[in-house]
Amino acid sequence: MQFLPLFFDLQGKHCLVVGGGAIAYRKANLLYRAGACLHVIAPQVADELQWLAGQSGGDYVERGYLPADLDNKALVIAATNDENVNAQVSAHAHRRQLPVNVVDNPALCSFILPSIVDRSPLMIAVSSGGASPVLARLLRSRIESMIPAAYGRLAAFVGGFRDLVKSAIQGESDRRRFWESILEGPVAERVLAGRDDEAEALFYQHLEQREGQYGEVCLVGAGPGDPDLLTFKALRLLQSADVILYDRLVSDAIVDLARRDAERVYVGKAKSNHSVPQEGINQMLIDYARQGRRVVRLKGGDPFIFGRGGEEIEGLIELGIPFQVVPGITAASGCAAYAGIPLTHRDYAQSVRFVTGHLKDGSLDLNWQDLVSSNQTVVFYMGLTGLAEICQQMISHGREPVTPMALVQKGTTVEQKVLVGTLDTMPGIVAKQDIHAPTLIIVGEVVQLQDKLQWFAPHETIKG
Ligand code: SAH
Repeated sequence: MQFLPLFFDLQGKHCLVVGGGAIAYRKANLLYRAGACLHVIAPQVADELQWLAGQSGGDYVERGYLPADLDNKALVIAATNDENVNAQVSAHAHRRQLPVNVVDNPALCSFILPSIVDRSPLMIAVSSGGASPVLARLLRSRIESMIPAAYGRLAAFVGGFRDLVKSAIQGESDRRRFWESILEGPVAERVLAGRDDEAEALFYQHLEQREGQYGEVCLVGAGPGDPDLLTFKALRLLQSADVILYDRLVSDAIVDLARRDAERVYVGKAKSNHSVPQEGINQMLIDYARQGRRVVRLKGGDPFIFGRGGEEIEGLIELGIPFQVVPGITAASGCAAYAGIPLTHRDYAQSVRFVTGHLKDGSLDLNWQDLVSSNQTVVFYMGLTGLAEICQQMISHGREPVTPMALVQKGTTVEQKVLVGTLDTMPGIVAKQDIHAPTLIIVGEVVQLQDKLQWFAPHETIKG
């Protein structure tokens, strides 16, 4: 290990910055954020650096560096564009055993500044030891995107309970388990959602009845298929869940993202072949949560769009079981984007409708009059079986037979196939193909744009 990472308390400490330009400003700004009192020396000090020095309670002087500038300082940065001056500052500081950083010259530094992810009070520092600052920065931005901005608030929240927990729970491993259950469970979720009051109440409850119920149900939208379309929140909950309930629309690649030892329960619903009836799923959610387990109910697309999400949480509400709902990218958005069909367009469609095409008793009971205006896109979910009736009803209620129409099979996955035709021709096109569910139907002038905007085409697009 070339450098030992340390976190330096600079609150109110006098720090010297030699240099007056943009780079000096960047470094000075970091020191300022850490509460340092800045003293800036350079023949010319940029306006913003002058301002920063004043804000920090320090000062600036426009002249060359003098060794006496190091007097009574806790830390030094050399950021001039003159190598000789930088080397001088470094040599003097080393002689006095003052921590010194020389910009872009690790050999002259006694400390280096890492790339940081600032979720104060949580701080993550990344360093390549000066070998490749760009690599460190790239890594930093990856970490940045993995850690919700609200983690800082979470750290501050739990920080306020440390002493209390220390006195309430004696054993170290018991304490660790308790903190894990807080940080991976409903308390943390509430803090991250900005519901601190609820989080606090729940925290006390957990502390009192430690063996008690920590169960929570998260209804999580898994998106239309491509695992990259999961939200960060969905991924985080998947990785902390004890039990995952999922159905046919959720791909294996997504279920595989769950924690390795999580229990996976398939409650798949194939059309008119429900392997677990809806009431059974509702009851399972309740039972698992009552066992104190963290349950993720993964649903294809978005849980509140043709997902019966509302029904699943009603039972939880009655029993006071904590739950939350995480939106997902719905099939209409996913399929449209991946097929190159904008759902709205200034010239072609000023509105879009999401409609169920599911047949009840062999027919479709829809207000067709509402669906045939020409400047509107209509998206049918669950419409494959009723396709012929959809086309025929739209035509007989006044939509032009030549209205463009697309059928997207398994959108956003490598099995995505797009069939393009019109209200008139689509039933014939589909009859000639071997099409597998799930499929989405998009009707409207916007479908014309598919030719131009298509970018994701694992299979050929079939036009009729
Ligand atoms: N809650 C889901 C919809 C569930 S209803 C959502 O928001 O997307 C099930 C219907 O969704 C299917 O019959 C099909 O019409 C559509 N669907 C879901 N995923 C799809 C996909 N990858 N490709 C095409 N259609 C899909």
